[in-house]
Amino acid sequence: MSENYTNMWEELGLDLEAHEQLLHVLGEGYREVFLSQKNRPEGMKYFDFVMSEVHGLRIKELLDAKKQGRIVVGSFCTFVPEELILAVDGISVGLCTGAEYGFDNAEKYLPRNTCALIKSIFGFKLGNVCPYIESVDMLVGENTCDGKKKAYEILGTLQDNFYVMDLPQTKSDEGKDLFRAEYQKFMKKIEELSQKTVTEENLRKSIEIVNNKRRAIKRLNSLRIADPSPISGLDTLLINQIYFYDDPVRFTNAVNSICDELERRVIEQTGVFPQHTPRILISGCPMAIPNWKIPMIVESIPAVIVGEESCVGVRGTRNFVDDSGNTVQELLDAIVERYFKIDCAIFTPNPSRLEHILQMTKEYHADGVLHYCLQFCQPYQMESGSIEQTLEENNIPVLRIDTDYSQEDTGQIKTRIEAFVERVSC
Ligand code: SF4
Ligand code: SF4
Repeated sequence: MSENYTNMWEELGLDLEAHEQLLHVLGEGYREVFLSQKNRPEGMKYFDFVMSEVHGLRIKELLDAKKQGRIVVGSFCTFVPEELILAVDGISVGLCTGAEYGFDNAEKYLPRNTCALIKSIFGFKLGNVCPYIESVDMLVGENTCDGKKKAYEILGTLQDNFYVMDLPQTKSDEGKDLFRAEYQKFMKKIEELSQKTVTEENLRKSIEIVNNKRRAIKRLNSLRIADPSPISGLDTLLINQIYFYDDPVRFTNAVNSICDELERRVIEQTGVFPQHTPRILISGCPMAIPNWKIPMIVESIPAVIVGEESCVGVRGTRNFVDDSGNTVQELLDAIVERYFKIDCAIFTPNPSRLEHILQMTKEYHADGVLHYCLQFCQPYQMESGSIEQTLEENNIPVLRIDTDYSQEDTGQIKTRIEAFVERVSC
């Protein structure tokens, strides 16, 4: 980290000793997983820097923005519309929920058989080690899976200004009406909190900013169709994770700049792994920072991850908001249309997700699909059976992995993935 931020963390009320230990473990893990990769694109230096300042410079930026009267809104899910927060000049930060931290504490509030992502939210909050949670003006939860919606009832007792957005369970007309009403309510809440009004002009501008961010990610993903892939799955996952908390315009520029480099690498046939390395598509639960376990195992074999059908991946970034509306209501309706397409497994039925996996497998020339679930995640675990069956019927090999954030099963998972990679290479 470029500066000493101890005073800032102290003022936020962090447990300094525990926080120091956390940063140490994160730094070690990062070096081992990311910096040890061979032949990385130069453009990854920006993202390495952002990661090295995840609890430093970025937090300072948020606190400086707050001093200037801007609001900071934290969230846990891709259903929270960033456009509405940006419209009032607010800052949207997706909170990382990918570490096994403070689970003993979390289990005082949650049943043991709760997914690791939810436990991680509680572990960080209860352990006073997350400067993001302590910096936000409002934290937004969403009623998606049963685990989250019941956990949010408890989190609301621990966190000031915790806002819960309701979500439908079906993609019906009635479901969309509820969805629209919730987005309308959320817009009002954001206006109240910021004491600013969403106008046609600021909303159109924010739609453009977020669409550009998604466009840059789409460009990045399209370059991974090449064989050899010019960038590793690990690095692409990292970029997708940073997507949630970096300044959106700066992030978009950095992604476009690495894409320029990757385009050159594609022409020169420079890859992170040799040509014909087995290509794997990952599908399933989101991998939040610093959950890098499965990609690290896959790419150590080596196989290369060429796509992520995930909320920290294409599911979360595909589809753009139509900005042709002429009123706030028309633009808001376009935002509703866009977000209502997200095919999260909490929807029933959810056929578009399966179609999307099939389409991605073809588009990215994947040799096989690794379906990744967090243990106790019923929506994705339930969907994994029909996904496996349909993919196998289409002669696409599938491996289902259920795991958590611990490292205990790493050896066993590696053995299974090695066998899978051997199978898809034949
Ligand atoms: S998987 Fe569903 S609940 Fe989780 S981040 Fe994505 S949309 Fe939200
Ligand atoms: S991983 Fe599954 S159980 Fe956990 S919060 Fe996401 S949808 Fe819910």
